[in-house]
Amino acid sequence: MEPYDALLASITPKSGETRTITDPATGTAIGEAPIHTLEDLEQAINAAQAAQPAWDGLGHEARSAVLLKAADAIERSAAELAHLLSREQGKPLNGLNARFEVGGCVAWLRAAATTPLEAQTLVDDGETYAELHYKPIGVVGAIGPWNWPMMITIWQIAPALRMGNAVVVKPSEYTPLSVLALVKVLNEEIPEGLLTVVSGDRTVGARLAEHPAVGKIMFTGSTATGKAIIKSSADTVKRLTLELGGNDAGIVLPDADPKAIAQDLFWGAFLNTGQTCSALKRLYVHTDIYDAVCEELTKVAVAAPMGNGLDENNVLGPLQNKAQYDIVANLVEAARASGARILLGGNPDAGQPGYFYPTTLVADIENDNPLVAEEQFGPALPIIRYSTVDDAVEKANALDVGLGASVWSSNRDAAREVAARIQAGTVWINKHGAVDPRIPFGGAKQSGYGLEFGIEGLKALGTPQVINL
Ligand code: NAD
Repeated sequence: MEPYDALLASITPKSGETRTITDPATGTAIGEAPIHTLEDLEQAINAAQAAQPAWDGLGHEARSAVLLKAADAIERSAAELAHLLSREQGKPLNGLNARFEVGGCVAWLRAAATTPLEAQTLVDDGETYAELHYKPIGVVGAIGPWNWPMMITIWQIAPALRMGNAVVVKPSEYTPLSVLALVKVLNEEIPEGLLTVVSGDRTVGARLAEHPAVGKIMFTGSTATGKAIIKSSADTVKRLTLELGGNDAGIVLPDADPKAIAQDLFWGAFLNTGQTCSALKRLYVHTDIYDAVCEELTKVAVAAPMGNGLDENNVLGPLQNKAQYDIVANLVEAARASGARILLGGNPDAGQPGYFYPTTLVADIENDNPLVAEEQFGPALPIIRYSTVDDAVEKANALDVGLGASVWSSNRDAAREVAARIQAGTVWINKHGAVDPRIPFGGAKQSGYGLEFGIEGLKALGTPQVINL
């Protein structure tokens, strides 16, 4: 018996082809996910088109009321959802993991439901009167990854629904149960047809991105898939919000206090066992405090237990899938072979079931090493020594991605100056990766375009219309 048994049964297909979803911590089966087809996608889009005008007709206030009830529904099912998420994704229940993710879904949904968005008067000078409105786009496609499957789904669908759109969701093949279960709970309150999950493979995603009846794609995933979506959406001139891969740099200035920042540095990098788009993935530390930062980080790292997520003791879990495990293992091996110094980890236990890769810190590594230059998306942090701030900024900006970045210092003004020189959508000071439903979030360079969250995030799910009298 699992706490989510009834919920899982309600999303288990009674017929048709299915895929067995396994627990990345143990390799045991969790349940069956439907393998939806292009025909299922067509049906979902038809239902969305049919349901959308009445939803639009409700207006903002009534839609917000429905969405607030849907947030209450998540809260009622929070324990079941968190348990299923923990088993399917691997993240522990405890810490900033599964329960936190479900709580985030409630918070973001409520924020999207209650953020005011009024028509804006643009000009009113006696001669000209012009105002700006945001109308629904129609049908929105939401395509997501496997690292924060529930939270990212909410980030995509909550503003879309609030703005009067219908949504067809295409979850990652690795984590469909989490998204199917979340949407099942939301649909206790949301009118029929408006919100459907099509649990198919990438051909279903590609068709969603080119479908003439879909007006916008919200996509979160790799940069390579983002580029494929830009191409498949071109013929229909779809609107796109693309939250793509990153390789976030953190720069520790010489005046930072290694002991004081170690905890936040660690969680900036190892949140969700490093499987976070805006995690700290390259740490640049001034040579004066390099050894002290390495030492303090190691102390925090050894005190963070990794293991099966259902054990309340654990705050780090496995990698979600074998492909990601191999990426991390190969990058660390290449770093070791190049002569970099492994401070901690780097020695996975081959006999252990599940995709556990130990918490790994790698020092004295060159900036062009693949563990630095590529997105590792796992629990392995390279720590690079620098001697001038100009050099650190140049290295931070050298890649073609720029999602987040951070500057660590005891002097806020000095940190702000450095922050302003970094090419990234968000630069945090003395923290990394903290997102907030009131604060817009999006990437620079090949980390994507468009903003999520806050008023900007609502506007991105509307078609702007100027009324000029
Ligand atoms: P992925 O690009 O492999 O897959 C994401 C989704 O796209 C899946 O649902 C997949 O089925 C679908 N897909 C694949 N090919 C497609 C195509 N041609 N057309 C349409 N859909 C297609 O990404 P992933 O491995 O699941 O996620 C990890 C990546 O996501 C990392 O690079 C990470 O940095 C990034 N990410 C970014 C953010 C952000 O906010 N910027 C957040 C989380 C993850």
